[in-house]
Amino acid sequence: MTRKTALFTGTYIGGTTVLAVILGLFLVLTIKPGVGEHISQENIKEMPPFSIHYKTEIVKVKNDEVGPALHPTVVLNDTDMKLVGSYVDGPNMLGLILWSFTFGILINRAGQVATSTVKAIQCINDAIKIIFNWILWYLPIGVLFLIVENVLNVQDWVAVVKLAKLSAVIILGLLIQSLVILPMVYFTLVRQNPFVILKSTSKAWMTGFIIASSTASLPIILQCCEEKLTVNGKLCRLMLPILTSINMNGTAVYEVIASVFIAQINDITLDAGQIIAVGLTSAIVTFGSAGIPATGAVTTILILTAVGLPARDAAMLVVVEWVLDHIRTGVNVVGDCYGVVLINFLCHDELKDLDKPLRLI
Ligand code: ASP
Repeated sequence: MTRKTALFTGTYIGGTTVLAVILGLFLVLTIKPGVGEHISQENIKEMPPFSIHYKTEIVKVKNDEVGPALHPTVVLNDTDMKLVGSYVDGPNMLGLILWSFTFGILINRAGQVATSTVKAIQCINDAIKIIFNWILWYLPIGVLFLIVENVLNVQDWVAVVKLAKLSAVIILGLLIQSLVILPMVYFTLVRQNPFVILKSTSKAWMTGFIIASSTASLPIILQCCEEKLTVNGKLCRLMLPILTSINMNGTAVYEVIASVFIAQINDITLDAGQIIAVGLTSAIVTFGSAGIPATGAVTTILILTAVGLPARDAAMLVVVEWVLDHIRTGVNVVGDCYGVVLINFLCHDELKDLDKPLRLI
């Protein structure tokens, strides 16, 4: 892949994800699906925390509280800073993401000597994938019982109305992202009818919609892009696996709306910093999550925990998760198709060189 192609791919993924996050935030903050009458807390069971982590905070203390005996050399001011630590609920997600990022870069720097460490990590990763495969087999049965329990327990119609509003806002966001924003981006750069892409790739995004997995839809996306849109074959085979696992516009729209919704039903008014944190975490999480069914449900908990919102309430999203998962996967696939066609157009000259036979000296 040439440097230009890589740059355009990164910009496309980053740019469309940011647009999806802004759209989601705009819709959820203006329509406010979670604001209004309170959902009864009676039926919500207390869940034990998933895990705990140690958190330190800098607090201001009066010097007379600290006492001259503890700090004999101190102090002219009457307040001082002190580092106070305690155990809090939930994993330290932001710390974990940052540390994994740093560790990955350092391992890469280490080069050859780190090969065995990389292999060991790959093995652990493969083992975890197998465990997830097992979980995916019995997941539908678990989800069925969760939904049945929720449906039988419906006494609180306020919750039902709020969930219906939430679903409507998410579906509106997904439609705007796939039918307005992505076509507009394409039209601005290519100056051709963007809806031709939607029509030619209908088989691909319908597959995504039906099986709720962008990764599993890859062969059909490849077929549509190569055969119907005549995108360069090498580019398709290189770019589409990357796009299907990193570029998830639909998931980004869903994540921000769902996270802010949870804050709204808990009467938490998010300040600008928290809104930016929700947006940023959602974007990062979509880059890292897999293109398999229902990852969005798990990653919402991750985002809520990272931003310090009550993750317990994410359980109520399970009721609408199934339908929304299918729709957002369709949108994820639409985003991938637009991406590969756009990059094919913008890097046309570089791609011609890819097709030339290699000259062996
Ligand atoms: N099912 C989605 C996909 O495969 C991911 C998600 O759960 O949002 O693209």
